[in-house]
Amino acid sequence: MGAQIKSVELWELMSPWRKLWLRIFGKVNTGWKVKMPEWRSWLPLYALECDEHGIVQDTPHGVAKSLSCPKCLRKAGK
Ligand SMILES: [Zn+2]
Repeated sequence: MGAQIKSVELWELMSPWRKLWLRIFGKVNTGWKVKMPEWRSWLPLYALECDEHGIVQDTPHGVAKSLSCPKCLRKAGK
């Protein structure tokens, strides 16, 4: 897994309205993009709030572009 930014730092770097959005919806597009060597393109980095793991990060994956906690694979969103 590619965690370029520590989740705590991610939280601190996010603007207030993104934090608010995350609190309300359980996920937010951070506005940053990430790319792994094996990926063909840059993907938007999302911050998610996991009930168990707090603020975590993920990129949309699968056909449904779903987001989930990388630690417990719980789906994001409320
Ligand atoms: Zn989790």
